[in-house]
Amino acid sequence: MRCIVISGPPPIVAKIISPTRLVLYPPRLPPPSSPGPQSSPRGLMFFLIIAESPLLSARAFIKPGFQHTCGPDFQVLGGELWHHSKPDIGEDQARRRSTSTEISDLYDRPPRRDPLDTSFNDPETAFRSKTTWEVVRAYIVYTLCSSNYVVEHNMELMKLAKAMLGERLFRQLMKATFYGHFVAGEDQNRIVPTLTRLRSFGVKPILDYSVEEDISQEEAEKREVESSVSEIKSSEAVSEARSIGGEMPQYNVTKTFADRRYKVQSARTYFYLNEASCERNVEIFQESLHAAAGATYGTGITAIKLTALGRPQLLLQLSEVIMRARKFVSEVIGGQGNVIGQKLNAADLEKRLEQAGIKDTKKFLAKVVKDSEGVIHLFPWSGIVDENFQLSDTFRVPSLKEGRMVRLISQLSSREEEMFRNMVRRLNTLIKTAKDLDVRVMIDAEQTYFQPAISRITLEMMRKYNTNKAIVFNTYQCYLKDALKEVSTDLEQAKRQNFFFGCKLVRGAYMEQERARAAALGYPDPINPTYEATSEMYNQTLAECLRRITDLRTKGLQKRIAIMVASHNEDTVRYAIEKMKDCGISPEEKIICFGQLLGMCDYITFPLGQAGYSVYKYIPYGPVDEVLPYLSRRAQENKGILKKIKKEKRMLLSELRRRLFTGQILYTPRGNYISV
Ligand SMILES: Cc1cc2nc3c(=O)[nH]c(=O)nc-3n(C[C@H](O)[C@H](O)[C@H](O)COP(=O)(O)OP(=O)(O)OC[C@H]3O[C@@H](n4cnc5c(N)ncnc54)[C@H](O)[C@@H]3O)c2cc1C
Repeated sequence: MRCIVISGPPPIVAKIISPTRLVLYPPRLPPPSSPGPQSSPRGLMFFLIIAESPLLSARAFIKPGFQHTCGPDFQVLGGELWHHSKPDIGEDQARRRSTSTEISDLYDRPPRRDPLDTSFNDPETAFRSKTTWEVVRAYIVYTLCSSNYVVEHNMELMKLAKAMLGERLFRQLMKATFYGHFVAGEDQNRIVPTLTRLRSFGVKPILDYSVEEDISQEEAEKREVESSVSEIKSSEAVSEARSIGGEMPQYNVTKTFADRRYKVQSARTYFYLNEASCERNVEIFQESLHAAAGATYGTGITAIKLTALGRPQLLLQLSEVIMRARKFVSEVIGGQGNVIGQKLNAADLEKRLEQAGIKDTKKFLAKVVKDSEGVIHLFPWSGIVDENFQLSDTFRVPSLKEGRMVRLISQLSSREEEMFRNMVRRLNTLIKTAKDLDVRVMIDAEQTYFQPAISRITLEMMRKYNTNKAIVFNTYQCYLKDALKEVSTDLEQAKRQNFFFGCKLVRGAYMEQERARAAALGYPDPINPTYEATSEMYNQTLAECLRRITDLRTKGLQKRIAIMVASHNEDTVRYAIEKMKDCGISPEEKIICFGQLLGMCDYITFPLGQAGYSVYKYIPYGPVDEVLPYLSRRAQENKGILKKIKKEKRMLLSELRRRLFTGQILYTPRGNYISV
């Protein structure tokens, strides 16, 4: 028996159209009520299992020699030879083992690959996946996004339209414009046709359930301030912590910047309500992981924000500890940054502490993490991903000034410790699910006052889960002055602690807010001084990752590092492609992939996918009413990138003209590319 796995909106019905041909299609008729053995006209038997899960729509078991065809909207995702009476592999395994060879085996035509034109100037290639109506809609949406009035008043306009048109008409209007262009559908079932179409044009999804609370600025500030301060105000603990590194105003919450949406367009913001709301977020992420698994078969990704999983105060305090520990390192041994970057020998550390007159450091030194090359961490960070980790007990260092052990973290109440463990448990649950489903998880980068903690927790999750391949990806923002240093240190940790390293490189979404906050609170601006400096940092960081990949390859270690170039910038994409060529990395290896948002810069994404590069679209989904804040931000972001919009509009118009003059107005997109 042969088992084929089909994705498409359920229900699916099988119809035998000739003695040897089976058609799978969405019926006007209801599906068979109880799936089970059915007779073909020639007495051949086959099984059809309907909709086990919404996305794994059907699995048909077909006798050898029996062929199948899929109706519109369906795609065969994989196939296996299947022994009817005694299957030797589990169904899940059968599903996951769908390789491109098996897939192409099942296709009538071999998958197609086009050459890549890196000027990204060919409208036909760029919009081959769109119907003519979608080309027109994209043009209308970008034109609206170029209007100052529409962008500035977009939320009010949407609310007014809803009040005037009523729920149903408003939804239709949105689907015909912004929602239809930027969002894939209401839920994980309704996005399947979009995912299927993208896949058939060589593009894979990063799923993001984009429902956002539409809360007022006042409410956001109130929630943020309340959830960012500790229940315990121990002045002794605070002054102990300050004895290393002095004042660090960036880790204090201030009402002025408590609404983290301030001047941010490209990222979603979560405001902590309570532990139950974090549990709800976990459920949503879980659904997203299942959707990614069902629809993509081991190629999908889900994006996760750590601020959705716990109390921000804990991320703030942990970030402060990390930065104070770095100050400690520079006080003890000079240099800057993490201890791993200092090539510090454990014996030297002991000597330095002795010279400073600090006694009784045995307990501290016993916990220091080291290997044959030297100290890796001052603290046993691996414990942080344990659900028994005690924050307050762990972070003590010997103070050179005070000559005794001091606490780097102000005290936490037992309830706050519990909340920290909850946050870690939630993340563990999600990553474990992702690993079981063979889906990857990208942890988004957020504001600099949370980022040290987010990055450290993510790195430890990588160490725990990235044992055979990169399941967890960290995000690095290249607009930060320290981006290259951070990536280099983390790559070094991955090498020394022997785990697979996954990283998404972005320029960064919070620039204006970061600068304004630094100026207002009186700490150094963490952002590179110019756009050019950010681009240079991006290139250097990418080059460092590629240098490491090449280095590992010479040692026979393949695929230890995976990188996502998440950018809408053509130059960045071209630079990555050039570097791949220089390093002899082929697109099929999938160790370098690319990412853009749905509805943005299709002229980059689709040519890449159709040429066989590993490329992703960030796919937002959710009910129309609840993704309005997301749509509002998309409108604003597009307004800010007028040069890219101009190019996209020009190309859309040219494609429209081409279709008109070649009689292809009714063109139906049917891809045969198969993403790598
Ligand atoms: C798939 C995907 C995932 C993403 N995930 C994240 C994430 O997890 N965290 C996050 O923060 N962002 C994330 N982003 C957003 C990203 O950081 C950028 O905001 C966005 O992509 C614009 O950068 P660009 O390279 O596409 O385009 P460009 O237009 O080339 O770059 C614009 C960016 O350059 C930087 N910049 C602009 N002017 C200056 C200046 N004067 N000085 C210094 N720097 C400047 C800013 O970062 C600005 O956003 C993601 C983007 C994508 C596509």
